[in-house]
Amino acid sequence: MNRMMALLCALAAPPAMGQQAHIDPKVDKELPSLVTMYKELHAAPELSHHEDKTSALVARELRSLGFEVTEHVGKYPDPALKGYGVVAVMKNGPGPTVLVRADMDGLPVEEQTGLPYASHVRAKDDAGVDVPVMHACGHDIHVTSLVGTARVLASSKKDWHGTLVLLGQPAEERIDGARAMLADGLYSRFPKPDFAIALHDSAELEAGKVGYTPGYMLASATSVDVTIRGRGGHGAYPHATKDPVVMAAEYVLAIQTIVSREDSPLDPAVVTVGSIHGGTKHNIIPDEVHLQLSVRAYKEEVRSHILASLDRIAKGIALAGGVPEDRAPIVKASETEVTSATYNDPALTERVAVAMKSALGADNIVKLDPVMGSEDFGQLGLENHQIPTMMFRVGAIDTDRVAKSKNGGAPLPSLHSALFWPAPELTIRTGVRAMSTAVLELMKN
Ligand SMILES: [Zn+2]
Ligand SMILES: [Zn+2]
Repeated sequence: MNRMMALLCALAAPPAMGQQAHIDPKVDKELPSLVTMYKELHAAPELSHHEDKTSALVARELRSLGFEVTEHVGKYPDPALKGYGVVAVMKNGPGPTVLVRADMDGLPVEEQTGLPYASHVRAKDDAGVDVPVMHACGHDIHVTSLVGTARVLASSKKDWHGTLVLLGQPAEERIDGARAMLADGLYSRFPKPDFAIALHDSAELEAGKVGYTPGYMLASATSVDVTIRGRGGHGAYPHATKDPVVMAAEYVLAIQTIVSREDSPLDPAVVTVGSIHGGTKHNIIPDEVHLQLSVRAYKEEVRSHILASLDRIAKGIALAGGVPEDRAPIVKASETEVTSATYNDPALTERVAVAMKSALGADNIVKLDPVMGSEDFGQLGLENHQIPTMMFRVGAIDTDRVAKSKNGGAPLPSLHSALFWPAPELTIRTGVRAMSTAVLELMKN
């Protein structure tokens, strides 16, 4: 934009309103085709690691807008898994590099919404098991919003400068997709961003609203497998055994003190035992019991402390039970089912929130409390938050549905529920407006 035009724009309206005036007609023009695209995506979800057609659609759409598109980005530790990541780059002169990420995968959930565009898809999962598939987390909203944002930005190149990198990310639900893209050279083969942004739909917030959380927004998650080993035998002769069922019961209670007595009350953390299995029959004491745990925390030092305590307490219980050394418990934190916390850079988040308030109306932008759910988006910020990242929430539920549930009606279905359904038009419209506003704020002239 030359000086004269800049001056004219400045006289006509404050900058953000000016930008929005450009954006809104474009969003509204694209909205019908975006909603059609959304419904098609919703009816044809794909499982994590299998985002074949979804990634092809993202690539096709972005390529048609003039982005330089690379497909099949992503390397998993398991060579049998294909990487379906899409990286689309648009260079528009000197300026910052901004990355926008949308995750693409569905979930093994049997849709029960009864919508005309509901999914009836079944597919084979990684283990070859036939499962139902549903976009129960709204990643179809994310993909559609990414395409909408790309259309808006590709048609307003005079309003921004720099390098725009759009990501179709696979396997968020398995929290290994972002890592797979990084392992395949995301930041060496493609421009490394100065900022990374993503949106996630919200099953509680009204459509039309955007939620933001400066600082920690989502927790790290680590899956932990514990094997309590003893010495099995006849249930009538417990004195001749080392009973792992009793030790596992002690263990489940003992580890409750990690959060309540070892961590600072000011450092949120969760230790959940989601699964416990041992034994085959009433009168047989088994050799071992298996537990599956989920560990959540914001700070890395809290997470590593919990993992060390899980190990120490297991060993302590085995020692107290007289279990021989060679039958010591095994505590193993997963190296693949693990993700870092989602940390929204406070300065970036406030900056984007101010721009969104100006563009979408202050009443529509709300500050939200952090939660202990998890995402793998934070990994794109690299260790120690090297790259400032921000994820915001886009309200997805009709206002009257939210009001009904608040006024004593049935609770709204959560994300991952078979009954979850976003209101497409307003959610996508808000997603595209909010994301375009965020990018324009960071790349404006
Ligand atoms: Zn999810
Ligand atoms: Zn999700």
